[in-house]
This record gives sequence, C-alpha cells and structure tokens, in this order.
Amino acid sequence: MTRFRHLPNRWSISVRLTLWYVVTLVVLLGLFAVFSYVTFHMARHRDFDQHLIHETRQLMPFVRERSGVPVFVALDTLRSVAYQTDGIYGTYVRLLRPDGQVIYESPNFARHDPLPVRVQPVQDVQVYSHTWEGKPARTRYTPLFSEDGRLFGWLEVTGFEWSLHRELHHLGLVLGAGIVLSVLLAAAGGYWLARRALQPVALLTATARQMGADNLEARLPVPNGVQDELTELAETFNDLLARLADSLERERRFTDNAAHELLTPLSALRSELEVALRRPRQAAYYREVLEEALRDVERMTETVRGLLHLARLERTDAHERARPIDLVERCQSRLKDWQLRFERAGLRFETVLPESAWVCVVPEYLDEVLDNLLSNACKYTPPGGQVRLEVHRLNGQIRLRVSDSGIGFAPEEAAHLFDRFYRGRSAEGKPGSGLGLAIVRAIVEACGGSVRAWSPGPGKGSTFEVYWPACPVPVLAS
Ligand code: ADP
Repeated sequence: MTRFRHLPNRWSISVRLTLWYVVTLVVLLGLFAVFSYVTFHMARHRDFDQHLIHETRQLMPFVRERSGVPVFVALDTLRSVAYQTDGIYGTYVRLLRPDGQVIYESPNFARHDPLPVRVQPVQDVQVYSHTWEGKPARTRYTPLFSEDGRLFGWLEVTGFEWSLHRELHHLGLVLGAGIVLSVLLAAAGGYWLARRALQPVALLTATARQMGADNLEARLPVPNGVQDELTELAETFNDLLARLADSLERERRFTDNAAHELLTPLSALRSELEVALRRPRQAAYYREVLEEALRDVERMTETVRGLLHLARLERTDAHERARPIDLVERCQSRLKDWQLRFERAGLRFETVLPESAWVCVVPEYLDEVLDNLLSNACKYTPPGGQVRLEVHRLNGQIRLRVSDSGIGFAPEEAAHLFDRFYRGRSAEGKPGSGLGLAIVRAIVEACGGSVRAWSPGPGKGSTFEVYWPACPVPVLAS
C-alpha cells in the first residue's frame, strides 16, 4: 500500500480512495482470472487425454506383431470403431516401428500435411501438445510390447483439440469483459460511496470557509443517533468554535474596558490642564492642578502595570518556577505588617492558622495573592469592622480564606469579580483599577489552584477563598 501514498496530493480523498479500491480490485480480479484460465486450460487437456486413452483402448485389441513389426487385424471393424471420422473431429492413427518409422497410417492422414513423429526412446506412454496445420493437436504414443516384454512398435493416436482454443478464447473474452465491467461499476460505485461518506467533511470545509473573525456563530450539523468519526470531528469542531467565540468575546470586552479605563483619566487630565491654561493663575492653583494630574498619571500607570503583569502571567510557565512552600510560615512572616495596617484602619484582625500547610507555588506569587486579598478586605471594610485570615488543610487541598464584615456584594456579582476591569457596584467611589482579583485568579490558576468568592449581600461582608493542591512535606537534607 505504501506505493499509493505517492498519489498526487492535489487529488481529493474520494478520488484517491476510489483509485486504491480500483487497483486492489484489478489485482484481485486479475489473479482470479489467471487462476481460472489456467485451471480451465489444464482441465480441458485432461478431458482430451481421456478421449485419446479411450480411442487407444478401442484400437489396442486389433494390434498384432507380425515379423517383428506392428499391424492391424480386422481393419474393416476398425474403421467403424475409431478413425473413420475426418477433419477436426477425426482420430488419426499410425503404427510405428520401435525407432519411430511409420509402418501404417489411417486413411484420413491423406488429406493433411505430414505429421512429424515425436516419440522419444523412452519405453513408456508419451503425450505431446503441438500445432498441426495451425490448429492445436495432441498426440499420445503407446508402446507395444510382445509377450516376452520386447518393444515391437508404437501406437500413435492424434486428435485436434478443436474445442480447446475456442473455449479458452471465449473464456478469456468473458473474463476480460467481466473484469472491465466490474472495475468500471466498482469505480463508479466506490467514488459515489466515498463522496457520500466524506460529505460531512465537505460541509465542514464550506462552513469554515463562510466563517470570519466576526462570524463564529455558525455550527456544523451533528446528525442525531449517529456516532462515528465524522460526528466526533463535527462535535470537536463545534466545541472549538464555541471556545473561540467565547475567547474572542472576552478579548473584545477586555479591549473596550482597557480603552475605557485609560481614556477616562486621560480625558479628566486633559480638561484639567485645558482649564488651567485658559488664563494666567496663581502658583498655588498650578500646584493643585499638577498634583491632581500626577494622581491621574499614577492611576493610569497602575492600570498599565496591572495589564502588563497579567499579560506576563499568561505567557510564563509558573509550573517550572513553582516550589514547595509552607503557606502558614509565609502568612506569619507578614502578619506584623498587616496587623499594623489593619489597626491603622480601625479594623480587628484575626487569624486561624494550622501548624503548617505545604503548597507548590511560585513564592512571590503567594505574597501577591495574600496582599491583594488582605488589601481589598482593608479597603472595602469600614472602620470598626473585622477581617479574618484562615488556612485549612482539607482532603488533599489547602484552603486560604480571607473574610471580612465589609461592604460585601450582590450574590449575582460573584461570578464577575475576577474578570478584568470589573468593579462591583458597592465599590463605587473607592480607588482601584479592577485588575487585582483578575491577577489573583491568573496566579492561582497558573499554579493549578482555583478561587471563589461569595457574600450574603451588600453591606453583609464577604469571603474570598483560594484552593491549592496540597504538596507533600519536603524532606530537608541534614
Ligand atoms: P479593585 O479593588 O481595584 O476594584 P479588584 O479586582 O481587586 O479591583 O476587585 C474587583 C471588585 O471586587 C471590586 O471593585 C469590588 O467590587 C469587589 N471586591 C473585591 N474585594 C472585595 C471585598 N473584600 N469586599 C467587597 N467587595 C470586594
């Protein structure tokens, strides 16, 4: 089959399949035809030999030895028995001396060309196929032995194999025509079947061709109740399209949000500067405007930095840089700073930490997650409230939980909090870019973890949880 791999690539699969099919069929039918032809040929020869044996048996009782040479007796009876018929249906009989010299030949030889003697000096029955006057003939030589076992001559019986070539020719024609017809029918049927079987692929190509970046809504039809390779292909293709459309939609939203987030402070900055430049002002006024402008620039820098960070997180392979870290130890090392910060914000800070909890993460990422969650809790909890940091060892997982008694959010917002640029309704008026939680999710997921958030409702506090697969405690080299 390797030979067929070299069929030109520009040929369609249907054409190539049909060609493979036709070539295989031709080879098989060809082998079958040759086998039938040879078997038939041999069978015909065997039949004819039976005929010659029969004729010989009829003649043998009339052969005698006289003066050391063979002769026929009762020739009249003989004529009616065997060689009376002439032409291609006749039997031609000769008696030969042991050395092959002709002693007697039947009268029907008179109307034919001389027939060369083929007998060999082997004292056994000999049969030969040959052509006589352009027609296939077969001759049988039977040795004639005297009573004392001496060879005294040969009985030669010849006949035209009149039917052999005609029948073989006929058979050849039938087989040839049969093969050509079968191959033509098989090629047409095979091509039709291949086209029909590959129709879903053609449909897939046509659908894919109609699609553009703006039109990812089309889906391939998946026939009900059929489950084959092509159905699987169509389903996979549809699945891919759905994911592509989804990611395209997210990219669009992200670009809109990014443009909006940068344009708002830029427009504010621009109008502030325009108003300031409209007429000469006091130095203090200019100072105030410049300070405001600096704050806007800082906000924008923060946003761009967050975006860059997100983009880098998506590119880098966190798995390669991750290493086992004790989350509890990491939390404790930063507790003092956080304690101070919460105190300053008028919040009560509590921790519930086990002895240790090992996770496999990038160390600086872990700090970033903690800082983001705790600074949000600080930012969104009014003074007098409380913030709680907990670490739990669950079944094969480590859970980091930051809960507060702050402004909370509506339950339906929970799914969007981790989206880029999403800012909750209750967060209005608070500073922020809406990128903090998106960065948290990207970091956590890059290390094989997951995040979730919930709140009983606005003003009722909120809880943020991060789950990581637990990592075995590393054995420290002494
Ligand atoms: P930012 O805080 O800069 O707005 P984040 O991505 O950190 O951006 O948070 C997205 C949104 O999630 C916030 O705007 C806020 O609505 C909500 N959020 C985050 N943390 C809390 C919290 N502790 N309590 C209530 N809402 C929160």
